[in-house]
Amino acid sequence: MNPARHPTDTIAAVATATGRGGIGVVRVSGSRAADVALGVLGRLPPARTASFLKFLAADGAVLDHGIALWFAAPASYTGEDVLELHGHGGSAVLQAVLARCFELGARPARPGEFTERAFLNDRIDLAQAEAVADLIDASTSSAARAAMRSLDGEFSRHVHQLEDALVNLRLFVEATLDFPEEDVEFIEQAGARHKLDEVMRAVGALRERARCGSVLRDGLTVVLAGAPNVGKSSLLNALSGEDRAIVTDIAGTTRDTLRELISIDGVPLHIIDTAGLRETTDPVEQAGIARTKRELDRAHAVVHLIDATTGFDAAARLIDEGLPDGLKRIRVFNKIDLTDDSPHSERAGDVVSLWLSAREGSGLDLLRATLLDCIGWHGGAEDALSARARHLHALDASIGRLDAARACIAGTVLQLDLFAEELRLAHRALGDITGEFTPDDLLGEIFSRFCIGK
Ligand code: GDP
Repeated sequence: MNPARHPTDTIAAVATATGRGGIGVVRVSGSRAADVALGVLGRLPPARTASFLKFLAADGAVLDHGIALWFAAPASYTGEDVLELHGHGGSAVLQAVLARCFELGARPARPGEFTERAFLNDRIDLAQAEAVADLIDASTSSAARAAMRSLDGEFSRHVHQLEDALVNLRLFVEATLDFPEEDVEFIEQAGARHKLDEVMRAVGALRERARCGSVLRDGLTVVLAGAPNVGKSSLLNALSGEDRAIVTDIAGTTRDTLRELISIDGVPLHIIDTAGLRETTDPVEQAGIARTKRELDRAHAVVHLIDATTGFDAAARLIDEGLPDGLKRIRVFNKIDLTDDSPHSERAGDVVSLWLSAREGSGLDLLRATLLDCIGWHGGAEDALSARARHLHALDASIGRLDAARACIAGTVLQLDLFAEELRLAHRALGDITGEFTPDDLLGEIFSRFCIGK
């Protein structure tokens, strides 16, 4: 660990969400946390024990009272001295307590700075730190469970096991390099090929679990199009049912007129309603539409809803022609309860057509399966590990290096020095996941996306 990375100042922030609440928490971390405790509480509370105390202003006036918790370094979230003040959850009272902490030597914490310190002080690694943010941002319970597994260190443990296996292989090969004439025999005796194949299988399996986690984290974006009265709202309601995703005020998950968030099998499904994409002069609405249009570019599929009683008529054709190019199209013929049709699907080239009834709920499973198919989701929520594109990229890079390593020992002429080098690079790629080799600017970017107080 680079000593220059170790912070020395003391930070404070409100750790609970803004707005009114039963309880609000002010958190302080750093070498001056004890001074803050002495100033606010008049004493240093016993460590790891709930103490009911008054929170005092400089002139001795009582700002609030509540539970004070003291965690002495290194046994705290950040690894530093930490003070938590659990008072009443109103913004004025919390700001007053926070201002008092600043008076006593703390400075405002940046977003994610507590977790960044936990990382810099080796309390958690980078994959775990990212899982903290993923857990807070999780929009379905499956996504939350995947984040919790990564936060618990399951993802990192697998990465470390793979790293250990790679180090062992490398040590062995590097020893062999001194006895070149025994190359082939050494490699065969030690079962190096077999061991490498096992590592490759394990990296592949980990990548699949991480891919499932990233799907649970980011979900699927679907554009919903269709003429008025074809049943768009009815379909949304029928799809969401009991399994409605929890909608929060986190950027990107806000429910507005343009977007809905539901979940299928625990996979978040962001639905963009094109009816909301109308011309407007309202700047707030314009901003929303611009954001939505950017999301459209990243959408996985478009669901074009059509009234089955009228079929693919001129109006439907007009809408179809206006849909973004290059998107997977699912044409859904709704209201089959009014026709002789039963639920079924047909595929013609890139277009899947589906017949269902939103009112009766028939054919919905077919639609759910078709949607999940768009992102290659075939289950796997139970052992998914929350992961980001960054992690998948690192695993892919590692797989690429292992493939290259395999080629070095495939034939009868072995290239053991290259083999060792590829193993080293594969190891380095894995290290990016846990943050062993992650540059400071990337760290800054990762933590800046956290909320303040975390
Ligand atoms: P939207 O304007 O596209 O959002 O359409 P709505 O969901 O508001 O539905 C328009 C009308 O069609 C309503 O009266 C719904 O009850 C009716 N409707 C929606 N889906 C079905 C269906 O599957 N079968 C039948 N018979 N009526 C439906």
